Amino acid sequence: MSTAQGNKRKFEVYRYDPTQGGEGHFDRFELPVQDETCTTILDVLIRLQKEQDPTLAFRYACRINMCGSCGMVINGREGLACKTNVSDFPGDQTITLRPLNHFPVVKDLVVDMGPFFQSYESCLPFFDPKEPRQEPAIIRPDSEERQTIGLATECIACGCCVSSCTMVNCHPSYAGPAPLNRAFTLLMDSRDGLYEQRLERALASCYHCRTEFNCTEVCPKEISCTRAIKHIQRLAMKDPFRRREPAPDAASQAGPAPAAAEAADSAADPEMSRRRFLTGLTVGIGATSTLLVGGVLASTFAGPALRRKPPHWIRVGGVDAFPVGEVSTVRLTYAETNGFYTQDLVKPILVWRQPQAPEFVAYSSTCTHLGCTVRWDANQRLFLCTCHGGAFNRDGSVKSGPPPRPLDRLALRIDNGNLLVKMV
Ligand code: SF4
Repeated sequence: MSTAQGNKRKFEVYRYDPTQGGEGHFDRFELPVQDETCTTILDVLIRLQKEQDPTLAFRYACRINMCGSCGMVINGREGLACKTNVSDFPGDQTITLRPLNHFPVVKDLVVDMGPFFQSYESCLPFFDPKEPRQEPAIIRPDSEERQTIGLATECIACGCCVSSCTMVNCHPSYAGPAPLNRAFTLLMDSRDGLYEQRLERALASCYHCRTEFNCTEVCPKEISCTRAIKHIQRLAMKDPFRRREPAPDAASQAGPAPAAAEAADSAADPEMSRRRFLTGLTVGIGATSTLLVGGVLASTFAGPALRRKPPHWIRVGGVDAFPVGEVSTVRLTYAETNGFYTQDLVKPILVWRQPQAPEFVAYSSTCTHLGCTVRWDANQRLFLCTCHGGAFNRDGSVKSGPPPRPLDRLALRIDNGNLLVKMV
């Protein structure tokens, strides 16, 4: 229903009161939302808490997709409340909000992240230099090593991937997607001195992955933990006869060692552990299969040129749909292929149609400061980012605040009366 204050949107929010115990329940709320494109689920929760129920508990800090503290399940799919807009859901749809799966609930939408960070610790998430240095060792951005690591270092430890994984609850020894992704970034780092210990621990855990891609699907930073885990498994194929004793150094530094993890796993799973089975299989298949599978994986993961498909042109809309002299926000939905995996992406872009040439200018809606979402404010005639007071003029130049450079422009062309932009 539409009112002067905006569309009335319906929400169902999971409630759990630790003083009452029990299973918890869903409370229903209605809230008028004026501009759904610029209203995030986090904005909704803050308003619900202020205007309707001050006891509603949820966690947040940065509001700009950086801290990872507002991860939750939004209409059945994990995501950050600060990165999900109300407009992502049809106007007549009730939006359900519940806490992350597989985490103990503290209250309402707040979960205990303790088990997650314990798993993180078990993968030795810290960098340990091979040799002491006065100056930082540099990995060149265009080096094969850095290209292989790719986006994996962008993890903000939100826990969305772990919540979406169907295996973490079944196997106590499975560290889960984000911890293994962290292990992957360090295993690929030539400066790191804990390779053996780290690999030992990662291998003790990573065979529980069933390659379901749920973690990759939901990650708000577009990291593919599945790719990271497959890469670790590929490292095992390079040396199938490796020793399996826990490494003394690593064992003293963090988390349960592989032997302990395997014991916990055996207790939970009376069948032969998946790790031992798959390791035996790898050895049995022998060098011929290793080469064959390695070749297939290499075609997926190795070589920057093969990693992602080249940028492609996406239709934004008919040129007549854009009012002259105005800025329009358009949500683009398109598929991106990475190796064998194709992911649907939703990205808002900003299109300015000028009265004079060049007629169209398209901007990425990602702030050049910390990557938060930029929106057009028609009253101030400025692009505003949701944090730190960053503001950009209509030509994309920085007006005020910390952004270090203008908004990123997207290449565009007009084809048969349609506006197309190039997405990278
Ligand atoms: Fe969150 Fe992605 Fe890191 Fe998982 S890998 S914790 S989903 S940022």
